[in-house]
Amino acid sequence: MIPVYGQTVDGATRCVHYHSAEDIVAIKFACCGRYYPCFECHAADVTHPAAQWPKSHWSEKAILCGACQSELTITTYKEVSACPHCAAAFNDGCRLHAHLYFEVPAVSS
Ligand SMILES: [Zn+2]
Ligand SMILES: [Zn+2]
Ligand SMILES: [Zn+2]
Repeated sequence: MIPVYGQTVDGATRCVHYHSAEDIVAIKFACCGRYYPCFECHAADVTHPAAQWPKSHWSEKAILCGACQSELTITTYKEVSACPHCAAAFNDGCRLHAHLYFEVPAVSS
């Protein structure tokens, strides 16, 4: 069993901040290598700023499916809308927060 830190409320990585049916993903933070359900859990638990995964590290397994406990690479996670192992749907709203976890190439405007 992979440990998930933070304010989890159940065994599927839901937390006090995000706990809808589809909030079943935990993210391993690049800074400390620990899985947290969300950035707010990370901020509440540690004193260092959250680091984002640089694109060169997106082949790392840094996503945990709380439904089946499988680890996915960041690249895989970004390509799917459900777990490739157990078919559990992921929360699409998480994509709005992707920049908090993964380094997004700067968009020139
Ligand atoms: Zn950290
Ligand atoms: Zn949380
Ligand atoms: Zn799964």
